[in-house]
Amino acid sequence: MPFQVTTKVFFGAVVVSKGKSALNSLGRKYLIVTGTSSRANGALDEVLAALSGKEVLVFDGVVENPGLELAESVARQFKDATLDVVVGLGGGSAMDLAKAVAVLLENETLSGRDLYSPLKYARAKPIVCIPTTAGTGSEVTPYCVLVSDGRKRGFAHESIVPKIAFIDPKYTHTLPGEITLSTGLDALAHSLESYLSLRADPLTESLSTEAARLLVENLPKVLREPTDARAREKVSLGATLAGIAIAHTGSTIAHALGNPLTTEKGLRHGIASFLPLPFCLKRYRGEKVGFVQELFNGKIFDFIESLGLELKLTIGGEEVERWSAELARDVHIRNTPAEFTTDVIASVYREIAEYFSG
Ligand code: ZN
Repeated sequence: MPFQVTTKVFFGAVVVSKGKSALNSLGRKYLIVTGTSSRANGALDEVLAALSGKEVLVFDGVVENPGLELAESVARQFKDATLDVVVGLGGGSAMDLAKAVAVLLENETLSGRDLYSPLKYARAKPIVCIPTTAGTGSEVTPYCVLVSDGRKRGFAHESIVPKIAFIDPKYTHTLPGEITLSTGLDALAHSLESYLSLRADPLTESLSTEAARLLVENLPKVLREPTDARAREKVSLGATLAGIAIAHTGSTIAHALGNPLTTEKGLRHGIASFLPLPFCLKRYRGEKVGFVQELFNGKIFDFIESLGLELKLTIGGEEVERWSAELARDVHIRNTPAEFTTDVIASVYREIAEYFSG
């Protein structure tokens, strides 16, 4: 895959207002898909002000880890509204839901399940993403993850690469500490896994290594001092660079191993998907593992603990078996720099269970 960033990215203070002519150029009628926090942090008002000459509808019922059914019901709710543009405003859940809705609105005969069959559709309504967290990177990727049949399932499609991303780090200043932590760990995992991915190349590595350095240095700072504007900016930048990197390389199996920890143990995506990484790293091969170890002075667990992550997990034998059998078929194995059989995955889960048994 050639290196290509098709999203027009606006990064910095008040970019929604500064970039409003680009935002307004996409159509006549806009749907904003968001949750309740964008009302509280002022982001929704800024987007509405930037779209003041347009017809704008708002869906503000985004929930964490949205399912296919929600995407279908939002698409049904707005199918007769002749919308031109879908704006995802919020964290990964809002942006991914907006992406799914944009496909379903453009292709009225598709069911939610068809989203996972990329040959069944070619287009989506133009998508704009405005992240209010610094983690997912969804604003610059062709990925969308929704819960289907109780499991997190992702798809990648060129049509859902956002046309424009507006990244204003100010929106992250008011995030609760636990969201800053979980989204920041998500971004850090994206940067490290992109770097380690078998699909990495020198262009993606320049982004993923810079992203990892920015995040390791600044994530502890924003957790201590949530309104440290410089550190917030660097965390947002790290998350965006990591997003561009994984858009090209995909993540390794470590990220996918976190999925059952979210759907069955209720851990937030960022925490769930970062946790398996140190355990996988011990099994990954190649000289790049050394770079990652060095980034944490060889003490990745100390780094996690220094962020104040307190966690107790109970994982039963039946769960280890079921999850391992499922994850052994996961597509991310082909990006992973080691052989990950059912047995290897089970041993990772057992180590996680032991480490966090409290
Ligand atoms: Zn992630």
